[in-house]
Amino acid sequence: MKKIQVLILSFVVIISLESCGKKKYTEVKVDVPLPINEQKLTLGSPEDVTAEKGAFKMLKLPYTYDALAPNIDAFTMETHYSKHYLTYTNNLNKALAGTDLEDLPINDIFKKLDMSNSDLRNNLGGYYNHTLFWEIMAPKAGGVAKDTLAGAINKDFGSFENFKTQFKVAATKQFGSGWAWLVVDKTGKLVVTSTPNQDNPLMPKAVVSGTPILALDVWEHAYYLSYQYKRKKYIDNFFNVINWKKVGEKYEEAIKN
Ligand code: MN
Repeated sequence: MKKIQVLILSFVVIISLESCGKKKYTEVKVDVPLPINEQKLTLGSPEDVTAEKGAFKMLKLPYTYDALAPNIDAFTMETHYSKHYLTYTNNLNKALAGTDLEDLPINDIFKKLDMSNSDLRNNLGGYYNHTLFWEIMAPKAGGVAKDTLAGAINKDFGSFENFKTQFKVAATKQFGSGWAWLVVDKTGKLVVTSTPNQDNPLMPKAVVSGTPILALDVWEHAYYLSYQYKRKKYIDNFFNVINWKKVGEKYEEAIKN
């Protein structure tokens, strides 16, 4: 009964408000953004993006922004490369400028990194992680690991399928923002791991330390436009764009050191 009274009262209030204010209405035009797929998108080119002067340069993207679609859409690639990656690169250079780390190779900077220096930690990781991520993807790629790396995966995981399952679990279970990795550890063994934020297995006190040869960005900015909350689907589709030839080269380099 009370509900009905409240309802009737609401109507009375609305009707009286409407009649009082009738003459005060003015037309206001509001721009309503179109859904992404109805917008006329003009894609830029990775060639037009350059970091400010500093110790590190952006990796030249080895493909166009739309080359990995539909697995990774063009708009996500553009924002990810020309905004996020650019910012990490510029901020890394700023954080290093004038310090004794400035002229060191990146692996030595990781060794000397003070983990309490969050500015350097985030931007060094952000720069390194994305650089590797761009490198190990390619259009018309996917499939399975080849040559020496294929043998090593079989030896250390039992099979390629087992590796794939472990990697997908690590990427899915990384809570919040972070990365999934395939790493060569100190003994030369392949290990799957994940890290939060922009941390990585080269940083001091990493839970699993080693040289990353495969990286997957599971921050929401990496997939949300196309996949929304379906991170698992994004992880599945990442396997369609892994450049196993490149990952194999990374593996050969890592076991030499
Ligand atoms: Mn990212």
